[in-house]
Amino acid sequence: MEHSKSEQLFSEALAVMPGGVNSPVRAFKSVGGTPITFRRGEGAWLEDWDGNRYLDFCGSWGPLVLGHAHPHVRGRIEKALADGWTFGAPHRSETLLAQRVLERLGFAEKVRFVNSGTEAVMTAVRLARGVTGRPYIVKFDGCYHGHLDSMLVSAGSGLATFGTSSSAGVPDEIAATTLVVPLDDEGAVEDLFKKHGDKIAAVALESIPANNGLLYQRPEFVAFLRKITREHGALLLLDEVLVGLRVQPGFAFQHYGVEPDIVTLGKVIGGGFPAAAVAATAKIMDHLAPLGPVYQAGTLSGNPVAMTAGLATLEVLFDQGGWDRLHTLAARFQHAVETGLAKFSLPVRYIQTGALFWFSFDCDSLPRTAAGISRPGITRYAALHRKLLDRGIYFAPSGYEVGFLNTAMPEDELDRAAAVVLAAINECYG
Ligand SMILES: *Cc1c(COP(=O)(O)O)cnc(C)c1O
Repeated sequence: MEHSKSEQLFSEALAVMPGGVNSPVRAFKSVGGTPITFRRGEGAWLEDWDGNRYLDFCGSWGPLVLGHAHPHVRGRIEKALADGWTFGAPHRSETLLAQRVLERLGFAEKVRFVNSGTEAVMTAVRLARGVTGRPYIVKFDGCYHGHLDSMLVSAGSGLATFGTSSSAGVPDEIAATTLVVPLDDEGAVEDLFKKHGDKIAAVALESIPANNGLLYQRPEFVAFLRKITREHGALLLLDEVLVGLRVQPGFAFQHYGVEPDIVTLGKVIGGGFPAAAVAATAKIMDHLAPLGPVYQAGTLSGNPVAMTAGLATLEVLFDQGGWDRLHTLAARFQHAVETGLAKFSLPVRYIQTGALFWFSFDCDSLPRTAAGISRPGITRYAALHRKLLDRGIYFAPSGYEVGFLNTAMPEDELDRAAAVVLAAINECYG
C-alpha cells in the first residue's frame, strides 16, 4: 500500500501541532509508523489521501454508530445549518434531544448538554461535590473519564490511598482529592469508606470500563458500589460516555439493574459532533446554575448543529431500525470471530458486548482489572495493527482501545474482515 501523500501531509502537521495531532493516541505512538491522514469517509469506509480504502472499526473512537456521513443525519444537519448554527439562546433541538435521552435513561429527569465527555465528567464531579458538600472522588484504576485534572490521577504507591497525578501540570493538592482503587475489589472500596466515608462525594465508574481494554465487571461489584455509596451518603456516578447506546438499545447500567445518581453521556449522543451531557434527577440537577449554586456554562453548549446530529442519530437507531441492524451485525461478527478463534489454540481472548469488542492477547482469561492486561499482548497488537492496515482494515492505533461496529457495515465485508483479522492474529503467533 502506498502512503506517501499521507506521510507528506503528516510531516506538515508535525511542524504546526504537538505530535502532529490534536489528541495523543492519534499519533500512532503505541503501534508505530505514521498516522494515516484521511480525506473522506462514507458509510463503513475511510479513504486516505493516497486513495486507499479501509473498513473502519474505529468510528472516530465511538461516536459514529451509523458509519460516516449517514444520509439521514447529513440531511438533518444541512437543514439545521441553513437556519444558522449557533444562537447562545434556547433552541428547540436542545429540548428534543433532552426528551429523547431522558426517555431512554429512565431514572433521570434533567440533562445539561456540554461539548465533550471531559466537560461532562468535570461538571458531574463539581455537581457531586456541590450536592454533598464533600471533597473526595473515588476513581478506579483502568477507567478513563477524560482529561480533567481530578481524573488524571493514578493510584499512589503502597498503602497510600490518595492519588498521585498522572500528568504534569496537575498539582498534588488536586490529585490528593481523588482516591484510586483497583476494579473488581470490594475490599479496597470498603476500606476507603471505612477511612474516609464521610468525605467521599462520589464513586465514579465507567459502566463497562472500555478505555483500557474492555474490563467487564461483575454485576455484583456494581451492585456493591450502589449499596455502599447509598449507605455513606455518597453519589454513584456512572460514566456512559463510551458505552451509552453502544452495547444495548439504552444504557449499559440498565443491564446491572442498578440506578446511578448521575450519568455522563457523550460520543453517540452527539452523532459525531461535539455534544455530551450530564443527567440526573431534578433534585440533583437543580443544584446547577442558574437554579443552584454549582456554576457551569458554555458558549457553544447545546448548539443546534450538534443537537440535530445527535437527534437524527437517535432517530435512525430507534425509529428506523438502526438498532436492530446493529444488533444483527454484532451477533454475526461475534459468531464469526468466536468460531474462527476456537479453531486455533492461541492465548487470545475475545470479548464483545453489543457493538463493542476487544481482543486480549497473551492472556488465558479475560482481565477484569487494569493490572490483568498483558503488556507483551499490547506489543503484539502493534504487529496486528500494521498487518490490518495493509489489508484495508482500520483498527484503533492502540491495543488498549476497543473496536466499534456500525450499521453501515455490509454483511459480506464484515464476514471478510473477521476472516482477515483471524488470519492476521494467527500470523502474529506464527
Ligand atoms: C471518551 C471518554 C471520555 C472523554 O470524552 P471526550 O469527548 O474525549 O472529552 C470520558 N469518559 C469516557 C468513559 C470516555 O470514553
